[in-house]
Amino acid sequence: MSAFLARVSPRAPLVVAAGVALVVAWPRLPAAKPASAPPAAFAAERALVHIRAWAVTPRPSGSPAHAAVVDAAEAELERLGFVVAREETRGLTNLVASAPEAPPDGGVWLVAHSDTVAVSPGAADDGLGLGVAMEAARALAVDGVPRDLHVLLTDGEEEGLLGAESHAAGVAGRGALQEPRVVLNVEARGTEGPAYMFQLAGPSAALLDVWQASGCTAQATSLARAVYDQLPNDTDFTVFRRAGWWGYDFALIGGAARYHSPEDTPEHLDPRSVQQVGDCVTGLARGWLGRGVSSDAVDAARVYFQVPGGTVVVPPALVQTFGLAALLALPRPRGWAASVGLGAWLVAPFVAGMGGFGLYRLILALGLDSWERGTIEMAAPAPWYVAAAALGMAVAAGLAWLGGLLEARLRGREDPPVGWGWHAATIALAAVAACAVPTAGYVLVPGAWVSVFLARGVPRLAVVPALLAGLVVTPVLCAIYPALTTGMLPILTVVPVLLLGWLLGPVAPARP
Ligand SMILES: [Zn+2]
Repeated sequence: MSAFLARVSPRAPLVVAAGVALVVAWPRLPAAKPASAPPAAFAAERALVHIRAWAVTPRPSGSPAHAAVVDAAEAELERLGFVVAREETRGLTNLVASAPEAPPDGGVWLVAHSDTVAVSPGAADDGLGLGVAMEAARALAVDGVPRDLHVLLTDGEEEGLLGAESHAAGVAGRGALQEPRVVLNVEARGTEGPAYMFQLAGPSAALLDVWQASGCTAQATSLARAVYDQLPNDTDFTVFRRAGWWGYDFALIGGAARYHSPEDTPEHLDPRSVQQVGDCVTGLARGWLGRGVSSDAVDAARVYFQVPGGTVVVPPALVQTFGLAALLALPRPRGWAASVGLGAWLVAPFVAGMGGFGLYRLILALGLDSWERGTIEMAAPAPWYVAAAALGMAVAAGLAWLGGLLEARLRGREDPPVGWGWHAATIALAAVAACAVPTAGYVLVPGAWVSVFLARGVPRLAVVPALLAGLVVTPVLCAIYPALTTGMLPILTVVPVLLLGWLLGPVAPARP
């Protein structure tokens, strides 16, 4: 036991560093501003006045409830000084609000959809978008409606992005845009938690310049786009992106169990989340208004991610370089027994996944079916989610440790083995991901450097990369968990193994 402790204790600082990073990088929400906030500020309480009035009953396309909300939004936008046009096609009604003498092209577009699914009052989906568009438009038009500011409320989103499609087709029918539009679209797959800007359209470098200057505190990572492109979900933003317009797509994902349900009510919509999205939309709109959009801007891909205090933007080549360098910095193994850890690493995700599946079956067998509809709430995680994450970590840590023991046995010596195989696998995964998909692979690179220093027998040097790894991994874990349901427990057990393999490495015996 004391030999075990002697091996583990040099790595204790790593665990502390990762813990500090976890606390520091945990996504936080701003306080909701009251209705008495200064007129030029976005105030969540003023946005909520609209949301509470409009998200009373479901308002599917074509229903009287929907027509009433469209009428109310039209009246409100006219009161703010906009000229409002109705686009009526195939029973749909889009609202387009612009300054009295708006130029035909370009401009900043606040976008939301006015319809809901048939069973949900849609306070978040997309009452949030409506309320944010109204309050942001009011704040931006305090000294008169800016010439370049527009509001677009689409219909038929829930039926398959119909309103957005017909609007985009109408614009295309009038000839190519001389200047791209900048779209700020707000959506919801949940009712609370941090806001996510989960996809960009247009030249990343220019969009991220304005983003960094906007003071927006929403979570943003290029990883989200890489993942989202693989999912079947679509928002109106997809239509605009295909049309060649630029912009930012926002969503709430916390409390995903209420998505498209009767529970998506104003009481469940967190005012702090409304404030965060609203601050971002207002700040970005101010950044783009009057800036002018150059249609020949080069679309240079960028890797970006959130750290405490802001968004880091780096060129993909930097991620690729650090990923490859980690692979080159890995010491040569001493004999074939050193690769036993590799086998342990390869098995870990499968064993963890099967454990997650077993846990899920157990929940059903115990009659805890209500968990099936539950999702993790980051503020008060349901015990099963914590158990699932802990199970994944424990399985991986156990396998890393067993791999190390086996390695020592095969070598036929008493001295602790390196755990080379485990570290090599962590590094190889990171290097491949960083080179192939740097926008997503960046998340594994700092952890790879933890493994490099552990494999070289200098755990003290691994503290800095451990801190960085914790900073980049934490927001990703916080984003993944609320989006999953109990049926996806195997994912909850596997993901920590892949993202935190470097943290589990410390349990594998280390000294050469
Ligand atoms: Zn929606």
